[in-house]
Amino acid sequence: MRKFFVAGNWKMNKTGEEARLLVADLLPELQAVTNVDKAVCPPFPYLVQLANMLAGSGIGLGAQNMHWEASGAFTGEVAPRMVAEFCQYVILGHSERRAYFGETDETVNKKLKAALAVGLTPIVCVGETLMENEAGLTSAVVGRQTRMGLEGLSPADAAKLVIAYEPVWAIGTGRAATSEQAQDVHANIVRKALADLFGQEAAQSIRIQYGGSVNAKNAAELFGMPDIDGALVGGASLKPAEFIAIVKAAGAAR
Ligand code: PEP
Repeated sequence: MRKFFVAGNWKMNKTGEEARLLVADLLPELQAVTNVDKAVCPPFPYLVQLANMLAGSGIGLGAQNMHWEASGAFTGEVAPRMVAEFCQYVILGHSERRAYFGETDETVNKKLKAALAVGLTPIVCVGETLMENEAGLTSAVVGRQTRMGLEGLSPADAAKLVIAYEPVWAIGTGRAATSEQAQDVHANIVRKALADLFGQEAAQSIRIQYGGSVNAKNAAELFGMPDIDGALVGGASLKPAEFIAIVKAAGAAR
């Protein structure tokens, strides 16, 4: 049976106090859902305090980015080992980082290798823009992001990571991909690229999350699809009742 993985990407939201309150609200209900892997990914300044709150809870903590270098003159950046001191996960290559901060398939690849080297589980984001989607380029773009982002990994390393398919046109828009659209990309583009790179067995074991306007209403249908192994949740992860409902929907899915 699949074990789903639901992660919340808080992006650049919440004060320290609000972050504590949100986790306090989430803790009891999320802990009760034991058959789903769960994580929250708050902004960097809150990682230390939330690592303390979440210790021993079974709820993971993730950063939203990191640099690939181990240390040095990189003002404003955070190194893999620094993230790994507090977190189990790191989101890499989110479309907002690709669009606004010059993230490329090459930098994603460097970060991915650096994250694995310090024992972090990377959540690697791929996804096409609206223009690319309408031009029929989804397969080319998502296939390229997957292949180039994961280049040079061994099947054993690949088995440790998580992919998040996040169509850019669905992020924060309230317009989620349909479960059929998401399933099609997960199976025929992402999983297929993984099988080409690492073989069928490894490809089957890599979890592929869907992200893009996931909410309490559409989660169950998405999780009903055979190649949707969880969700990367943005806006709805800031609302305790919504996020809890999404995790429960994953817990009830087969
Ligand atoms: C995201 O930020 O990764 C995301 C999927 O956002 P939202 O759920 O708000 O669309």
